[in-house]
Amino acid sequence: MEDIFGGQQSILIADVLVDGRIADIFVDDKGIIGAVGVGLRKDYKGEADFLLDGNGAVAIPGLVNTHTHAAMTLLRGYADDMILQDWLSQKIWPLEAHLTKNDVYWGTKLACLEMIRTGTVAFNDMYFMMEDAARAVDEMGIRATLSYGFIDLFSEEKREAECKATEHLVRHIRTLDNPRIRAAAGPHAPYTVSPEGLKWCAEFARDQQVGIHIHLSETEKEVSDCIARHGKRPAVLLDECGVLTPGTVAAHCCWLDEAECMLMGERGVSVSHNPTSNMKLATNRAMPCHRLSAAGANVCLGTDGCASNNNLDMFEEVKVASVLQKFFWNNPTLLPADEALAIATLHGAQALGLETGRLAAGTPADIVLVSADIACNTPLHNAASNLVYACSGSAVETTICNGRVLMLDRNVPGEEQVLKGAAKAAQELVKRAQAV
Ligand SMILES: [Zn+2]
Repeated sequence: MEDIFGGQQSILIADVLVDGRIADIFVDDKGIIGAVGVGLRKDYKGEADFLLDGNGAVAIPGLVNTHTHAAMTLLRGYADDMILQDWLSQKIWPLEAHLTKNDVYWGTKLACLEMIRTGTVAFNDMYFMMEDAARAVDEMGIRATLSYGFIDLFSEEKREAECKATEHLVRHIRTLDNPRIRAAAGPHAPYTVSPEGLKWCAEFARDQQVGIHIHLSETEKEVSDCIARHGKRPAVLLDECGVLTPGTVAAHCCWLDEAECMLMGERGVSVSHNPTSNMKLATNRAMPCHRLSAAGANVCLGTDGCASNNNLDMFEEVKVASVLQKFFWNNPTLLPADEALAIATLHGAQALGLETGRLAAGTPADIVLVSADIACNTPLHNAASNLVYACSGSAVETTICNGRVLMLDRNVPGEEQVLKGAAKAAQELVKRAQAV
C-alpha cells in the first residue's frame, strides 16, 4: 500500500460523527469531498485508495485562524506579563530587529506544525520576510493568506519602500501558483500607517484582487490618539481611505462604538476576535461580537501571534471567546457553542474567501477528526458543546487539508526536524540580540 501522506489519493473516511450521526466521507483524488452520508462505505470501498477508520471520531471542517503572526512562535515565552507599549518597545521590537529569513522560515514551520496538531488548516498571517513564510507553508501543506506588515510611520520615504515590499510579495506569491497560498495587502494599523499609505493599500488590493488584513481599535488609546490626530474614529478613517471592504479582515476591534459596528456591517467586513491576546494584554474591552453580527459583519476568530497568546490552539481560543463574550457583556446566552464553532470554521473560511468551512460534497476536503474515546468527549451528549467547552486541540487525532492527510492518529511526518530547526533558530536569535 502506498503512503497515505504521499499526495493526492482518494480516501474513504469511515465511521465518523457528522452533524450528530455516524456517517462516512469520501474524498476524491482531486482533494474534493465527493460525498458525505450514512452507509457510503458500501459504494466507495472498492473505489478509494485508502480506508481511514474513524472509530466514531467527531468530524468537523478544519479550523481557520484569521489573525496571527506565525513566525512569532520563536518569541513564545520570551516576554510576558508587561504593559503593552513596554512589552513591544523593550522586548518584542528589539528582538524582531534581529530576525532573519531563516528565522521566519523556521518560525512559520513551527506555527504550521502546531496548527496541524490542533486542527487548524488555514491562517491569515501578517509579518515580514513573507516570501520565506510562503516557503514554509508550501512545505507544511496547509492554507495561508500572507500579508507584509505595511508600516510607514507617516513618512513618505518609508511609504515607498513599504509599497514596493507589498508589490513584491504579491508578485512572488503569484509565481508560486499554489492554490493553498494567497496574498493580501497588510496595512498594519491606523496608528502606524498614514492615510496616504492606507489609500494606497486599498487601491492596490482592489487592482490586484487580493484581500486586506489590518489591526483595528485594539486599545482605547489608539482611538483617542486617532481622534486627536485625524479628528475622527479609526473605523471612519479606514472607510474614508477605502480600506473597509468584503475582502478585509480587521483584527481585535475591541473599542468600536455602535456607529462603527454598523459601518463594519454595511461594508461587509470580517472582524477577527482575538480574545486571549486581548485578555493577556488587558485591552479592557471585549469585541462587541453580538453588535457586529447584528449589523451584518462577519465575526471570525484568531489567536494573534505567539508572543501574546502564547499558542495557536483554536480550540482553546474558541472557548475563551465564548466565555469572554458572556463574561464581559454580562449575558450567558452570547456566543453559544454552535455559533462559536461556526466563527472558528465557516466564518473564517468566508473571511479568507475560501470555499471550505463545511463538510459538504463539492467543497475542498479540509477535515479534522477529534477523538471520541477520550475524557473530554465522554459522555458525548452534544458534540458542539464538547468541542467548544471541553476539548483542547490535543483532542485532534487526524488533520486533512485539500484532501491531503497531514496528521494521522497524531503522527505528523517530519515533526522532529521542525521542532529542532525552530528551537535552534530561536536560540540563535536571542543570542544575536543579546550580543548587541
Ligand atoms: Zn496582531
